[in-house]
Amino acid sequence: MIVVMQPTATPEQVEHVCRLIRDMGLKDHPIQGTDLTVVAVIGDDRKKEGGKLEQAAGVDRVMKVLAPYKLAARHEPQQKTSTVRIGGSCVVGGTAIAIIAGPCSVESREQILDSARKVKAVGGHGLRGGAFKPRTNPYSFQGLGEEGLKLLAEARDETGLAVVTEVVTPGEVDLVAKYADCLQIGTRNAQNFKLLDAAGNQPKPVLLKRGMAMTIDEYLQAAEYILAAGNPNVILCERGIRTFEDHTRNTLSLSAVPELKYRTHLPVMIDPSQGTGHARLVPPMCLASIAAGADGLLIEMHPDPEHAMTDGAQSITPETLHSLMSHLCRVAQAVDRTCDTPDPRMN
Ligand code: PEP
Ligand code: MN
Repeated sequence: MIVVMQPTATPEQVEHVCRLIRDMGLKDHPIQGTDLTVVAVIGDDRKKEGGKLEQAAGVDRVMKVLAPYKLAARHEPQQKTSTVRIGGSCVVGGTAIAIIAGPCSVESREQILDSARKVKAVGGHGLRGGAFKPRTNPYSFQGLGEEGLKLLAEARDETGLAVVTEVVTPGEVDLVAKYADCLQIGTRNAQNFKLLDAAGNQPKPVLLKRGMAMTIDEYLQAAEYILAAGNPNVILCERGIRTFEDHTRNTLSLSAVPELKYRTHLPVMIDPSQGTGHARLVPPMCLASIAAGADGLLIEMHPDPEHAMTDGAQSITPETLHSLMSHLCRVAQAVDRTCDTPDPRMN
């Protein structure tokens, strides 16, 4: 922290601030400038409540310097991005980009098996699909629950694709972890600290969506909850934030990718489906995401989007995913990434 004194602060007020800092177990380092004095606080002050210094007489403001997320922080630009392995088929954060695709929700055995086969056929690495759906409207389809998890596990057994699916409550973490290879925490739960803690207390990787009204700092502190609970396998996923714009469902913040990469070593994915809300916008945003440095994509793909029970408007078809893959590989190569599926073929 740095405590900025008012230009009119007296030497006694500066000394009082220095004493408060020492009382916090930290070292004070006053620096007298031509117009005012600042007091640098030396030591790890992340766990200290700096707000009270602002109450001291003669203080103008207190500025935090250390990032409030020690485990998530990238400590130097050279630090490597962490790689997170999901199941047997997917690695996020390595040189190769990761493609995880599938329907918004698991709807039936036929639908999820068909989806999984299509994802596999085009060279995808993971299968997504919600069994527990956090819906805005209580009358909307809420997902198949455990039955949906069993169907996802069956799809994994047949295709070998790693399964990513959402967990909505802390009490269901163990149940979802029993079937899934990676727990998704959705935008609406991104600051559900009990859920973050529970996901951090089990070994399966966690894909944490950005809360739709979260700053980058808040997002990284949410990731820190999972890391601090003991789970190092956290993947970030930008999925768009709320703005005034209403042509898209959310505003997909692509600058979040390089900004997150600068601030954290955690791998970063993009969900262009929730991020735009329109299938036609998904392929260009996929390409832009990889160009911006994303480590992978979480894409909604439905074998029959016209009849999808949830998020049909933003779900691309298997054919679109197929043609997208070869473009993605070329963009990946242009930014020194690889694509381990250079020649995807449809079944
Ligand atoms: C989803 O992936 O289907 C989903 C509900 O995501 P989000 O939490 O980003 O809205
Ligand atoms: Mn969805």
